[in-house]
Amino acid sequence: RGTTPVPPESRPRLTVLSGPSGVGKSTVVAHMRKEHPEVWLSVSATTRKPRPGEQHGVHYFFVTDEEMDKLIANGELLEWAEFAGNRYGTPRAAVLERLEAGEPVLLEIDLQGARQVRGSMPEAQLVFLAPPSWDELVRRLTGRGTEPPEVIERRLAAARVELAAEPEFDRTLVNTSVEDVARELLALTNVV
Ligand code: 5GP
Repeated sequence: RGTTPVPPESRPRLTVLSGPSGVGKSTVVAHMRKEHPEVWLSVSATTRKPRPGEQHGVHYFFVTDEEMDKLIANGELLEWAEFAGNRYGTPRAAVLERLEAGEPVLLEIDLQGARQVRGSMPEAQLVFLAPPSWDELVRRLTGRGTEPPEVIERRLAAARVELAAEPEFDRTLVNTSVEDVARELLALTNVV
């Protein structure tokens, strides 16, 4: 009390990018980091198996179920969630180290995780990535055309629920063009 407050724009910022599945979060983040590798993105732990080309410690820390149980029990995760049958979580220590060093931090996580961060770190900036339209999201989710109709129906029902979360967020970015959204996200992370 009584001291000059730090102006909001110079505070280290925790930015959380979230949104419905299929909206293109990871594409936007990948694009942004190609141009600005200095943006620090938290590497999550997951029980999902690596996809071709994914590297341990780069895209994810690939862990066993037992290892994930331990991370959770020891309070080592800032948040975690189960998504499509696998668990995903943000290692707490690395994020706190960066923030304490005054560096901006970006998390790209699902909606359940974003809600947990809102609860535990109210100063975090929550950014919702929205599809340009419902029809466009339907197109993206049904795009591959290889899945049975009931699976597509389930995904669409989930997407409808996920879209309704938008008002819980501080800001919305509409994914009309990857380049534009990546630029807006960069500005929001306070790196420049
Ligand atoms: P994928 O398996 O396609 O890499 O990721 C599936 C979903 O998990 C995506 O929506 C992604 O944003 C989310 N995700 C990735 N890491 C984390 C995490 O650490 N915590 C949470 N809550 N979700 C995550």
